[in-house]
Amino acid sequence: MLYHPVGKEKSLKDAIIVVLATEHPLTAKKIYNIVKREGFNVSYHAVYKAVKYLIEQGTVSMENKDYRINSRWIENVKRFINTFESVSIAKEGIESNYFKKLLLSGLFTIERGRIKLYGNMEWILNPATAYACMLQEIGEKLGAEELYELGYRAGKRGASEFIKFGNLKPKGGWESIQPILDTLEFIGFGKPKFVVAKLEKDGGHHFLLRIKDNPIIEIAAKKFGAKSVVCNWLMGVYTAHGEAELGVKNGRLRENKCMCKGLPYCEWESKW
Ligand SMILES: [Zn+2]
Repeated sequence: MLYHPVGKEKSLKDAIIVVLATEHPLTAKKIYNIVKREGFNVSYHAVYKAVKYLIEQGTVSMENKDYRINSRWIENVKRFINTFESVSIAKEGIESNYFKKLLLSGLFTIERGRIKLYGNMEWILNPATAYACMLQEIGEKLGAEELYELGYRAGKRGASEFIKFGNLKPKGGWESIQPILDTLEFIGFGKPKFVVAKLEKDGGHHFLLRIKDNPIIEIAAKKFGAKSVVCNWLMGVYTAHGEAELGVKNGRLRENKCMCKGLPYCEWESKW
């Protein structure tokens, strides 16, 4: 008997999915022979019709008269199960770890050994100390202003990928920036607290952010103290995202306070 995860009473369509999950690719004739053997008293025409229906529904795909389960459908089912699990876990209060939540919700996946966001956007993870030192060296060589510019340009490239792969509305306001803020927190860029967040329709704005829990800044504070310039790079990245997703016009973050100078948080401000 075919193993069926849903229930005892199988419909012909369910049976075809189970057949193809167990063995593939198969021709319509072979599918027909198997379901007959499994006790379905149906005509070849009925099997063929059911397969056609499953193709229309996106469950089954066809290539050269061979049928198989559509891999995209499997991905969707997987995502559905992951989301269901993460929601259940969150409700039960067992796990509040953001890293796990993002992985479980299927936003981040590992495909053929590579990390992808939204299924398509390539990611790498960096060791934080090496990253902090690299930024500091670039900043010392080129100057703090140039480091900000580099961060800004990197942020712009990142933002256009976020918008493309995440289907975010460019300059879409808070709805578009939220997934970015979640991701920045997830990758260790800290969680910004908005002390002032004024945004006009024409992009005029006043933002005052406080940044905490950022491993790069904390490492730089320890290693370079008041000489640290790494915040410039991060401010450049944040500025780019503010413009691309939030719709801020002529953003330019300036640092009022810095953890590297012994304060409990960094405070960044942009006004236009
Ligand atoms: Zn700082």
